[in-house]
Amino acid sequence: QLAPVVTIDGPGGSGKGTISRLLAQHLGWQLLDSGAIYRVLALAAMHHQINPSDEAALQPLAAHLDVQFSGDEHGNTRVTLEGENVSQTIRTQDVADMASKIASLPSVREALLRRQRAFAEEPGLVADGRDMGTVVFPQAEVKIFLTADAEERAQRRYLELKEKGFDVNIGDLLNEIQARDERDMNRATAPLKPAADAYMLDSTNKPIEQVLQEVLQFVNSKL
Ligand code: C5P
Repeated sequence: QLAPVVTIDGPGGSGKGTISRLLAQHLGWQLLDSGAIYRVLALAAMHHQINPSDEAALQPLAAHLDVQFSGDEHGNTRVTLEGENVSQTIRTQDVADMASKIASLPSVREALLRRQRAFAEEPGLVADGRDMGTVVFPQAEVKIFLTADAEERAQRRYLELKEKGFDVNIGDLLNEIQARDERDMNRATAPLKPAADAYMLDSTNKPIEQVLQEVLQFVNSKL
């Protein structure tokens, strides 16, 4: 890895997606939303009616996944699967659930490694995920682990999904978030955990502007 990398790992709803996007904008760097890759793979698996435990079928699907990221006219990231815009469809709770099941398979993770590392291009990369600092970019210059209480993360997801027009129930969201955390933290391969050299940041009760300021301060002190 030649270009500098900032990794931002943490559970869903910790604010890492927003913070990563704002940080990448601020630095003028590339952005890798690695969760979106797992979500696109999950969607492809659902299209092909592949069972989330069918590793023999999922590994080649991961290896040949035709996923593209591009910026749209509003500065948002557009995600396509085989040329089809799936930016909205990959955000549903069903897809998230499938993604976290598939993400526990070692050969699937392995098949996605090179693709993720290819995002480390000049002038630099902000990488958002679960194992960016531990597995994908262990040599990263700056590593951040962002957390928040599960209740607050459920609340954030609720507002985010509601704004996108999804009809969601906060209690269901909290249950799903906790089930997904459980699965992501306890899998054998690349579990969700802070890198030994990660800077720990708890975003509970903090407005996003404040979290961004704290992240910027830390990043600037390291680069
Ligand atoms: O971050 P996001 O909610 O989009 O991720 C969806 C799922 O993909 C996570 O629950 C996790 O299981 C998986 N994932 C992963 N490793 C990453 C990013 C996401 O296992 N680096």
